[in-house]
Amino acid sequence: MEKNFHCPYCHGQLYVNERIIFSARTEDHQRGLILLTPELGDYRALKHPDFHIKEGEHLDFYCPICHSNLIVEKGGKLFTRVMMLDVGEEYEVMFSQIAGKKATYVVGEKTIQAFGEDADENTNFWGVSPNY
Ligand SMILES: [Zn+2]
Repeated sequence: MEKNFHCPYCHGQLYVNERIIFSARTEDHQRGLILLTPELGDYRALKHPDFHIKEGEHLDFYCPICHSNLIVEKGGKLFTRVMMLDVGEEYEVMFSQIAGKKATYVVGEKTIQAFGEDADENTNFWGVSPNY
């Protein structure tokens, strides 16, 4: 079964043509679409060159279907949360909302996995260590 990514609120599919699609808003209220690859820990984002994102700024991510804000706070840090189905199992995928920050967490029923070079500093915020 192919991986899929969906919105936790409307369950709409965010995964189109092997990209996860979000509507995003920068700190200065620019809005644009961002496409992410489904490879966890791969932070190459596709966007239009006119949609300027500054390194280190906070981005809000919205579901492009129901427009829910996908923000979630864990341990004082802000993440974007989507649901992932992989081989029939459902996971929560959370990635940092700070542009350029490489930290993604995949939370299953019994497992937590961390991806990205900036993930380490966050690893204790669940009160558990990630399961590599
Ligand atoms: Zn939605």
